[in-house]
Amino acid sequence: MASKSAPLIGVLGLQGDFEEHTAKFESLGAQTRDVRRTSDLESIDALVLPGGESTAVAILEKSEAAKNIFDDIRELGEQGLPIWGTCMGSILLAKDIEGSRQGRLGLMDISIHRNAFGPQKFSSETLLHIPALGEPNFPGVFIRAPIITKAGKSVEVLAKTERGIVMAREKNLLATVFHPEVVEDTRVHEYFLEMVTSD
Ligand code: GLN
Repeated sequence: MASKSAPLIGVLGLQGDFEEHTAKFESLGAQTRDVRRTSDLESIDALVLPGGESTAVAILEKSEAAKNIFDDIRELGEQGLPIWGTCMGSILLAKDIEGSRQGRLGLMDISIHRNAFGPQKFSSETLLHIPALGEPNFPGVFIRAPIITKAGKSVEVLAKTERGIVMAREKNLLATVFHPEVVEDTRVHEYFLEMVTSD
């Protein structure tokens, strides 16, 4: 979309912390759209799947109306639409969710382990070394976060900690198990916008 000065970023607004993403993208000059139904997907340049509760969204997938939107998102992802999943969103993107058969998009060749950092309320902040973002280290906020335990050959590991992979990319797909939308640093949002505009 290099010809467009302000890409239109859809943010899935079915559940979770989508408003923080919207604010971040708008502060960077992108347009945003709250995506709740299939028609909202029309002419977006990219899609963000925010953090939230993946089992709640997996249940939504069973309802007819929501099922269509998941099928359409899957198809757009297969066609190359840039999609970024944060936390819950990275669970939805994963082909393999360890020990679970919950609904998913299953677009990205990663295995993910839900709630990998312990009890439900557990959250923490860790400075992450992410070479693709340069210096300084990025403040990674983990909220009931999963961890990526395996990544296929076509997946580029962008950051990892001693617990496992926390940021990865496979072509048009980006997964972060932490929450860049809740910190001031905008570099992951800028990285994603770069994926969108360099298409
Ligand atoms: N623990 C949630 C899940 O497994 C994800 C948490 C989040 O997105 N902040 O679905």
